[in-house]
Amino acid sequence: MKEFVKSLRHPSPLPRCFQWLRQLLPPLCWQCKKVLGGRTFLEPSSPFLCSNCLLELPWTDQDYHCRQCGKHTAEPNRLRCQECIEDIWELDETRSVLAYDDIVRHWILQLKFYGKEHLSPLLGRLLALSFQNSNWLEKYDILIPIPLHSSRLRKRGFNQSLLLAYYFKKNLGKFAPELQTHWLRRIRATRPQTELPLAERLVNMDDAFETSLEVQNHQILLLDDVMTTGSTLNAAARCLKEAGASSVGALVLGRKMWDSFEDRFPDA
Ligand SMILES: [Zn+2]
Ligand SMILES: [Zn+2]
Repeated sequence: MKEFVKSLRHPSPLPRCFQWLRQLLPPLCWQCKKVLGGRTFLEPSSPFLCSNCLLELPWTDQDYHCRQCGKHTAEPNRLRCQECIEDIWELDETRSVLAYDDIVRHWILQLKFYGKEHLSPLLGRLLALSFQNSNWLEKYDILIPIPLHSSRLRKRGFNQSLLLAYYFKKNLGKFAPELQTHWLRRIRATRPQTELPLAERLVNMDDAFETSLEVQNHQILLLDDVMTTGSTLNAAARCLKEAGASSVGALVLGRKMWDSFEDRFPDA
């Protein structure tokens, strides 16, 4: 319970004098520092982007996007790409919001490894923005952020996926699925996927999760910050389906769209 409360910790607020100053200064774009007009800010201390910087982000084209694994495809409306046909894929569908590249990669790494928790309201809002004028979320009734193992949670101090889920939901209001943070638990500490070659990533996640029977007959949407090979999300989906979830989809902020040469050929 203590860990759960800690994982919900709100990003550190600005010192009081800065908060006061922020009331006087006009809000600026986090990226280009242009003055923002209107009520763009979700919270006075949260960073946000102007419309030009927003448009320049590597948004995933939802038509040219593999429905199952979330990668770019050459042809529109592909239900499965070549890689999904070759792999055992447990997720029913995947929706990626941005390509895990350049600035998106920088932000996510800053959030996860450099303690920049104040980026989470911005990233949660970007997730929500991609659902403007879309009814894609309606089929899901439960939202579950991918949990961290307690040892990693202690080290990092927060679960980045939970922070994203919190701000995603806050931006969507009543349109968001119900957030459940205790239905899925990470019971085995695994090595970070980024440290492993592709072949080892696929077995690294075996039996990493456990879930409760409450998931039965629910349409569950998993949320994670990044998807590379998809082995973490697939392992979580397998666990939920074995416990009786009727469908499991994934929503990821950053999707690695192309495997590097080293991923495919780790000994090269
Ligand atoms: Zn800007
Ligand atoms: Zn695919």
